[in-house]
Amino acid sequence: TDAVRLESLHKTYDETVTALAGVTATFATGTFTAVMGPSGSGKSTLLQCAAGLDRPTGGRVFIGGTEVTATNDTAMTKFRRQRVGFIFQDYNLLPSLTVEQNVVLPLKLARRKVDRRRCRDVLAQLGLGDKLDARPEKLSGGQRQRVAVARALVARPAVIFADEPTGALDLRSAQEVLALLRAVVHQHGGTVVMVTHDPMAAAYADSVLFLADGRLAGELRAPTADAVAE
Ligand code: ADP
Ligand code: ADP
Repeated sequence: TDAVRLESLHKTYDETVTALAGVTATFATGTFTAVMGPSGSGKSTLLQCAAGLDRPTGGRVFIGGTEVTATNDTAMTKFRRQRVGFIFQDYNLLPSLTVEQNVVLPLKLARRKVDRRRCRDVLAQLGLGDKLDARPEKLSGGQRQRVAVARALVARPAVIFADEPTGALDLRSAQEVLALLRAVVHQHGGTVVMVTHDPMAAAYADSVLFLADGRLAGELRAPTADAVAE
């Protein structure tokens, strides 16, 4: 089944800047896909439209079989809170909330039971076990980025979109975050779509989509175990 399907996505800003010029792509359930391409090629726009954070100017977006482009803003927001996790490039942490309060927020917004233990486990997995009560302003860029990762994972969303999730991390933290995203996909059946500039990060994905000038310019698939055995 398809976790996410994009049909002929177009996005024009201010009626002049074409960010997406007809992208059709499918992200199957239980796959980890990297999206690469030069700066300005439309990667962030693609992610935001696919996640229902922004509306394309043309084309359709399906998440788990539901056409989110056919719903109104209220329904789209509600749907997103139930199904989607988003790791923002600039983290989007709320400055007035502590680390733990930031991470718990998606559970509250989705009206789910707040499982503090689970929240703390995810933060501990990301090396933030001693930062629960800190405010974002007290954290380094890398720590903030890991809080953003924890917040996107805590509700176990069906689909996780990650915009440069390792951009602020040192090599070791980056590898830990990438291994966690792989575990979400390969041990828990989640689906991850990750924009990255970093070939090391892309190597953790099962396939890589390349964008250029708002269009798909190529695709690379990691060899399957079967293919390797041949
Ligand atoms: P990438 O993530 O690959 O760097 P973006 O999706 O951010 O690409 O941008 C694609 C194009 O759309 C660029 O030309 C960029 O300047 C433009 N763009 C992105 N966001 C906006 C916006 N909010 N308003 C106007 N133009 C935008
Ligand atoms: P756990 O013992 O909580 O299953 P794992 O290390 O096996 O921990 O899981 C890795 C991470 O993946 C955890 O932080 C968890 O929050 C997250 N996770 C597990 N399942 C999903 C899912 N279906 N979607 C998104 N995230 C998930």
